[in-house]
Formats: sequence, C-alpha cells, structure tokens
Amino acid sequence: MDEAEVAVSIDPLVHQQGSAFFAFLRRAAAKHSLRLCVSSNGPGQFTCSISRKETEKFDLFLQELMLNHGLYYYLCSLRNRREIARLVVRPIFQELLEFSCEFLYPSLIRRNVLEGSGGWVAGEFSDEMARRYETLFWRLKLKMISNYEFIRDLDDLLTEFMLRRLGYKKGQKSLKFNQLVDECGKQNIIWEKEIRKRFNRVHTLRTHGLHRLEREIPDSEISQIALQVYFAFEYVNDYFEAQSKRAVVLSGKRYRRVRFGNEIRHWNPPTPDTFKIRWAEIITRPCHDCGVRRGELHLDGCDMETCPRCGRQYICCDCERESEEDDFEVPEADATIQLSLGLSVGDPQTKPSS
Ligand SMILES: [Zn+2]
Ligand SMILES: [Zn+2]
Repeated sequence: MDEAEVAVSIDPLVHQQGSAFFAFLRRAAAKHSLRLCVSSNGPGQFTCSISRKETEKFDLFLQELMLNHGLYYYLCSLRNRREIARLVVRPIFQELLEFSCEFLYPSLIRRNVLEGSGGWVAGEFSDEMARRYETLFWRLKLKMISNYEFIRDLDDLLTEFMLRRLGYKKGQKSLKFNQLVDECGKQNIIWEKEIRKRFNRVHTLRTHGLHRLEREIPDSEISQIALQVYFAFEYVNDYFEAQSKRAVVLSGKRYRRVRFGNEIRHWNPPTPDTFKIRWAEIITRPCHDCGVRRGELHLDGCDMETCPRCGRQYICCDCERESEEDDFEVPEADATIQLSLGLSVGDPQTKPSS
C-alpha cells in the first residue's frame, strides 16, 4: 500500500468548518507540490491520505505552516476564530502532527520504548501526571491496550490526579468520583465544564465495564475522550510550567511576572477609578482567557497578563524578550503554543466571561 491514511474526527456540528479547513490545507499543500487527499465519511469524520513517497514533504509542509504562522493567518480570516481554533483547527492539526510523527518515529520504536522498564516514552509534557497520561495515550494509539483497559487505567489516573490536587493524603477516606469532580470544579482545578463531564463519563464507562455489561466501547468515543483528556493534561502541564516561571528577562533586565490580581499598580497608563472598581470584581473570577485564579501566574500567551516592565499587555508589548535557559523546545508542543499565542494576539480586547 503506498498511501498512508489518517482518520480525523471532530464535532459533527462544525463539519462544514472542518471541510473548509481541509480545503485550505489542500491548497497550501499544493504550493509544496504535495498532494493531500481528503474525503469525508459522515458528519465530522474525515480521512486524509498522502502518498508514502511524500512523507518527508508532508512533514516539511506541517513545519512550514507553523513557522509561517499559517494557521494563525487562516484563523484571522474567520469571524468566530476562537471557537474554530478549538473545535476544528486544533484537533485536526494535532492529528496530522501525530500522523507525521509516526513516520519520523515509527510505531515499532515507540512500542519498544513503552514496553521497556521505565514505561515512559519521551513526549511533550514535563509534569509527572501529564506524562503518565501521555504514556497511556500512546499505549492506546499503538493498540497495546484495549479500549476498556484504557478507560480502566484512565479512571485510576484521574482519581489519583484529583485526590492529589485536592490535597488528600494516602489512605485518607475520600469522596465519590463525581463528588471529587465537583470539588475540583469548585476549586477551579478542572475549570471547564466539558472536561468535568468527560471525567464523569470515563468513570461511568469504567463502572459499567466492572459488571461486564458494557466492555465494548466504540473507537470513535474512545478517541474523542483520549484527545479531550490529552488537552486537559496539556492544560495541567502548561499551568504548572507557568507557575514555575516566575521571572522574565526584558530588554536586558530581570522582572518578576505580574500575578493575576496584582496588576493595577503596574498599569500604564494608570486606570480611571471607575474601572478599578470593575477590575476588583473581575479578579474574583478565574482569568477569562487562561483560567488561573487570583494570585496565580497566567499561562503562556494569555491576553490578560500585564508586562512588568512597561505595564501594557504582555503578549503584544514592545519590550525585548530574551529566552530563559529553562525554556526547552519540543516540536509538537510548539504548534499548540504558537496557536494559542497567535489567537490571543489577534484578539486584544479583554472581555470577562461569566
Ligand atoms: Zn490569564
Ligand atoms: Zn512590556
């Protein structure tokens, strides 16, 4: 077989937007004399194929899209770009990146590494729990475990994750799974309602499986869960990375980053008193863009962060940035970081969400 295929599924409600994005990718690929074939086999279901002879070209094409901010410019042309980025561009691009990764790091190698003593394959996350999920994710992708085994291990991992984040000690009596999820919601640990719903769904699938009633879980549901939980752990990872990066070097000087809630004295120009009152109310809620709470550091690319040097919006001020030694580069992670940065740059107004 000289065609390599990847199946991508997105929310059926944004099928049309998915087709439009694939059309854009096809046109862009043609400029690299790369032939990208896309077909659809149902709402939200796409199959993308390339010739195996062109895998290197395909990889270069994806890299160039990232380097040229191609996705950002594509999104700029759309009205509801935040939503399209989240529901269409991100899942599709992530899938294509993984697809190209399989050529560069053939599954056999990954499999071998995963079966080794450490059980961890080098990936993009640095946080321990996120890394453990990443390993689980790859075990599923490489079909080393069944769908039910994935759900079982994921249920254990999510339970441990929530217990740890809520500060439970080993052996301490804990709440039921759904109560843990609620508590994590209240404490802003899992701030997206959608993700909380997914967590509960994982637990339901697991308990059904315990009674052997329902161990057959369709691939489509599993891959949706796997991807969404992947993004949830990506957030966890980015959150901890953001909290550990306390200072930045700007125009040759080191500054402490401004925490959410501490920005008023940094603002330039100073704000009118009327807005200060409104701001005091805004900071009682999580950051509308990145979800952190008052006193925490914003995630990379958040449009609410204030620059500690000039007092303007950090993502688009003119202060000269120097990269920190602790910054490391992972090609896959780059795409998502650039994507979120690009999005925020294009949407500078601060609008608190409820
Ligand atoms: Zn933020
Ligand atoms: Zn600045």
